Amino acid sequence: EFGEDEGDEADLAIRPPVVTVMGHVDHGKTKLLDALRNANVVDKEAGGITQHIGAYQVTAEVDGNDRRITFIDTPGHEAFTAMRARGAQATDIAILVVAADDGVMPQTVEALNHAKAAGVPIVVAVNKIDKPEADPTKVRGQLTEYGLVPEEYGGDAMFVDVSAKSELNLDKLLEAVILTADASLDLRANPNQDAQGLVVEAHLDRGRGPVATVLVQRGTLRVGDSIVAGAGYGRVRAMLDEHGDTITEADPSRPAMVLGLTAVPGAGQTFIVVEDDRMARQIAEKRESRERAAMQAKRRVRRTLEDFMASMEKGASQELNLILKGDVSGSVEALEDALSQIDVGDEVNIRVIDRGVGAITETNVDLAAASDAIIIGFNVRPQGKATEMAEKEGVEIRYYSVIYQAIEEIEAALKGMLKPEYEESTLGQAEVRAIFRSSKIGNIAGCMVIGGVIRRNAKVRVLRDSAVIADNLDLASLKREKDDASEVREGFECGLVLRNFQDIKEGDIIEAFEMREIPRS
Ligand code: GDP
Repeated sequence: EFGEDEGDEADLAIRPPVVTVMGHVDHGKTKLLDALRNANVVDKEAGGITQHIGAYQVTAEVDGNDRRITFIDTPGHEAFTAMRARGAQATDIAILVVAADDGVMPQTVEALNHAKAAGVPIVVAVNKIDKPEADPTKVRGQLTEYGLVPEEYGGDAMFVDVSAKSELNLDKLLEAVILTADASLDLRANPNQDAQGLVVEAHLDRGRGPVATVLVQRGTLRVGDSIVAGAGYGRVRAMLDEHGDTITEADPSRPAMVLGLTAVPGAGQTFIVVEDDRMARQIAEKRESRERAAMQAKRRVRRTLEDFMASMEKGASQELNLILKGDVSGSVEALEDALSQIDVGDEVNIRVIDRGVGAITETNVDLAAASDAIIIGFNVRPQGKATEMAEKEGVEIRYYSVIYQAIEEIEAALKGMLKPEYEESTLGQAEVRAIFRSSKIGNIAGCMVIGGVIRRNAKVRVLRDSAVIADNLDLASLKREKDDASEVREGFECGLVLRNFQDIKEGDIIEAFEMREIPRS
């Protein structure tokens, strides 16, 4: 749904770079962001109080042209990483702030690595050069060692000495950003399409309801547009810029604070403009269920049947550690030999961590507990407090007197370990539009399938106001008009009855899902 559809080459217009400020704590990120914002506000005739809305735009004069730059106003790379974690790339260029009196510090390197991993070009702001102990040359030398070589040394990174405090060289820094963008990026977007972009920051405002600062990435966002932002949706009631002024539209790379959403979206979530409010709501609901399904998929259901595996699960390793004890050395050797012949592929390993002749001792149990091993006793029994201790420590001891039986069981357990895992996949959703009460078959929910498909044999859950009120239910019946149906697709009405759940209400969402086998790679 987050399309790339931008039309022809000719429709693309240059857009401002979006910049994130990163660096070690106390090196001046906040101060720099403030200085850049304030220095620019002077140009504005309104000159009002600047507002922290999560992002702002400034203008720089480069080669006689006015060029705009967008700053993400959350210092540190929290926003950056949060957005990247969601797969959203908001940043075009990173400004790495390094205090010239302190030099490269751990978070400097971390920030550098983040930007590199994201493939984002870096401009270095060597800050605090107003300080007498500042050593900008040392900073250049240090960063060169991390592969960030200054232009003046033949590299391709621009370094600018600045003072956020004295507002020194801020214009040079902005120029370096533009030059870096022009040299290594092709930042263009089509302003003439429905807007899409990212949520930079959002919160619930007491008077205004949910407010979200969005960054338009393509298209132009206008007041009156129906949008979906994360799980929130609605019509854009008003937009404000970083000066607190109302604006009617926002073009690519422009941040805008949006009013009119039903719910507070998360930072890094995408927003899109859609046809109308109804569509917006349906998409928002789908998105939410998809997010939940994605979360549930992470909590995979493991099918592990044998108690053997239960002890393995603890170690969460694909290694079966064994301690072998036998009555005579010949039987221990034969057992170990047979075990080494078991073929379960390379996914699981059998490792005999200890072997010996004689009774199972407390020392054996101790080792098993420490290494999540299982003890195999062949024609031997535990001695002294070994049994008691094994129970206490949760160590499993299995006794055999026939080798092939031992081998068979261990093999079965290992194969069990390789049984498929399952994950949930959402099939579709239906909205309950009416309830028909039947004393014979229970409450029939008259539904409209609003996404995907509802299957007769699927599992379902019931959502009310986005909360799950019943889960893992079966359908007692699914009908399309008068006929039983095996499935009903999006856009069609259906009547369904839930097994063992009668508290269904108009407006509830019924979500169908199935457990799917995850192919092992
Ligand atoms: P952050 O943790 O990176 O956001 O750092 P801050 O912006 O909060 O700055 C940390 C401290 O350094 C504050 O006391 C700032 O006033 C000070 N500071 C920031 N920039 C400069 C500068 O250019 N020169 C001097 N002398 N102090 C600065």
